[in-house]
Order: sequence, then structure tokens, then C-alpha cells
Amino acid sequence: MGLVCALPVGAQTGGDRELREAEARVETLRQQVAAGVTPRAGLERAEAALADAQDAALLQRTLYGSADLSEEESTQMLAASQRRVERRKTERQEARRTVDEGGAPRLSLGLPLENLDMARRELDLAESRVRLVRELAAMVRAEQEQASKAEEERSPAPLFDRFEGSGLLTPGDIYRLESAFAARFDKPLPVSARGETAVHRALGFDHRHRLDVAVHPDDPEGIWLRQFLVDANLPFFSFRTFVPGKATGAHIHIGPQSGRVARGG
Ligand SMILES: [Zn+2]
Repeated sequence: MGLVCALPVGAQTGGDRELREAEARVETLRQQVAAGVTPRAGLERAEAALADAQDAALLQRTLYGSADLSEEESTQMLAASQRRVERRKTERQEARRTVDEGGAPRLSLGLPLENLDMARRELDLAESRVRLVRELAAMVRAEQEQASKAEEERSPAPLFDRFEGSGLLTPGDIYRLESAFAARFDKPLPVSARGETAVHRALGFDHRHRLDVAVHPDDPEGIWLRQFLVDANLPFFSFRTFVPGKATGAHIHIGPQSGRVARGG
């Protein structure tokens, strides 16, 4: 369990310039192949480079972009990082073969190895980002499930607690809560969703003016938090849902209950 936090910006994967160049190269080669002045193999290599540049641009937008991600975007991001690792592995194998055949000095293996290491680090980043998005999605689904349950039967389900309080959550309340938590636990409040996120939007769930905190309600931090909210008369719902091996979805939702976004109106 962790925070949805910003990843370091500036780790270069190529991006837009690389993409434009690859597109231009493919276009030129297509014309040359059509005119019969260039063999097809050259075009295929350029097309592979273009696919790689497209993946790099996608990672620039998602992995290094500041915007939060929907599950679908994070899945695409992961696939792109995996393809980049596979391509770097192939390049390294090819470089090794060339060296073995005496076509290049052993020293020339350094760069392909470095590139492979970088692609692997990028994949690690993508995987941890995907875990956070999935965790957030599990939290949203837990809330959705509870929202539909609450509509069917008005009694509280055993997996969550509910406190109505004043029914309101103001920015001042949030400020006081975050200050008190930081003073008590010597670290920032682990907020997993502040208002609406791309995951909420993709799932059609209204989460504006609400806060999700990634603590288990029965952990010391969760117990302290619930007590604080009751004392401050602030509304909350706690969730203890657990999906083995996937995401826990356990968290405390602060603010009024979320609802489906009204459609078509
Ligand atoms: Zn929530």
C-alpha cells in the first residue's frame, strides 16, 4: 500500500523529437521502396524504430507525465515498457553476435547493456505505478459496491464503518486533519485520492470534494484517524475489503458518500 505520488520527471525515454524523426524516416523509405530504389528490409527496420519511438512517446505521456492514469492507460504503459525491454534485449543479442563474429570490438557491448538496464528500470517504475493505479481502482470498486449495497438495504455492511457527522468536508477540515496526522505520526497523511482521479472518471464515479486515505481502518493509523474524524464530526466510511494477491482496497474514505455520475443530463 502506498501513496499515488509523482514520479521523477526528466528521466529521458526519447519522446516527441524521436517520434517525429522516426515518422519522417519511415515516410521517406516508403516512397523510396515504392520507387524501387531501396530494399524492403530498410523500411522494416525503420518501421520497428518507429514502433519503439511511439512506445517512448507513450511512456513520456504516462510514466513521466504528471497526469494521473486510468487503469486502461496504465495497462498500455506497462505493455509499452515491456516491449521496450524486449527490443533492448534483442539489440544486445545482436550486438553480442556481431562481436563474437569479430565484426565489432568487445567494448561496443557497453551501450546496448546500458540501454537494457535503463529499459529495465523504466519497467520497474511502470510496474510500481500500475500497482498504485490498481490499488486505487480497488478502492473505487469497494466504494461503488458499498454505494449500490446502501441503495438496496439501508443497513451498514460488515466490511465498513460509517459515520455521518456533519455530512460536510471543507478544505479547512482537510488542512487540520493533515496537520494533526503529520504531528502525530511524523509523516504525511497517505492520501491515495484527493477528489476525482482518472480512475474515478473512467469508472463513472463522482468523487469530487472527497478524500481517500490509504490506511487499513484497524491499523494504529486507521484507528487514530477514525477517532479524529468522530471528534471533529466529519463524515467517513472505512473499508476492509481484501483481494488476495491483487490489491487490498482497504482505506478510509472521508467526506460524503460518492455516487454514480449522472449520465445524459
Ligand atoms: Zn473515496
